[in-house]
Amino acid sequence: MTAWMRGQMCSRDTGLASLRWGRERSIGRAAESRAFPPGGAVVWRSIPRIAREVHAVLGFTVVLDNPELIALYIAPGWPTMRRTGVLGGGPRGRMLVKPDGGHALQPWVDNEALVLYQPSDGYSVWLYWHAESHTFREWYVNLEEPWRRTPIGFDSRDNLLDMVVAPDLATWHWKDEDELAWGVMSGRHTAGEAVAFRREGERALEKLRNHAFPFDRDWPSWTPDPAWRSPRLPSGWNVYIESA
Ligand SMILES: [Mg+2]
Repeated sequence: MTAWMRGQMCSRDTGLASLRWGRERSIGRAAESRAFPPGGAVVWRSIPRIAREVHAVLGFTVVLDNPELIALYIAPGWPTMRRTGVLGGGPRGRMLVKPDGGHALQPWVDNEALVLYQPSDGYSVWLYWHAESHTFREWYVNLEEPWRRTPIGFDSRDNLLDMVVAPDLATWHWKDEDELAWGVMSGRHTAGEAVAFRREGERALEKLRNHAFPFDRDWPSWTPDPAWRSPRLPSGWNVYIESA
């Protein structure tokens, strides 16, 4: 097992500095001046910027934060906040149709997850392990807006459509296409946005087919630092932060 798999990752021993991506990296540049230290607590938040509302909030521990890659870790029991109100929208009735302005704590359950994000991408790649056995379950491509760095973590927006990839990378499928269709029908997204989300998923798929990052390395063998404990949500986790 190489050093980058052990959980106590830092930029000097990952070898990631040699990786190259051709897209603009606004977060990457910011990371040079104010990267979050490994082992620190951050929140990842889903925030539609037009509505300026804080939707889902997830508490993570920072694994790695450098200009090429941001890696975050979450485990069962760690804090996530979800909006409260009347559910019932969408294909499985799990979408909020009438938010009441509040949030409720819904601790993360069942899985350990490592989130890998390359600055400026419109998706992150999640690795899921069954927490009790640390058995690898699947890769998961979460389509979302490019992350924006904040003083307490990262803001993005979940774009409903996802992709699930088998542990051995041999098969994959779209997930929640029906929720995205509902999102367009209900005016949450435009048809053009839905096309763009899918195109971004196809970019991830191209990487999968070519076994390019992050599918080019043995992330499933990564293990978290056993010293990491549940982070506390920082104050201001529910406050909209203006982008720079
Ligand atoms: Mg998603």
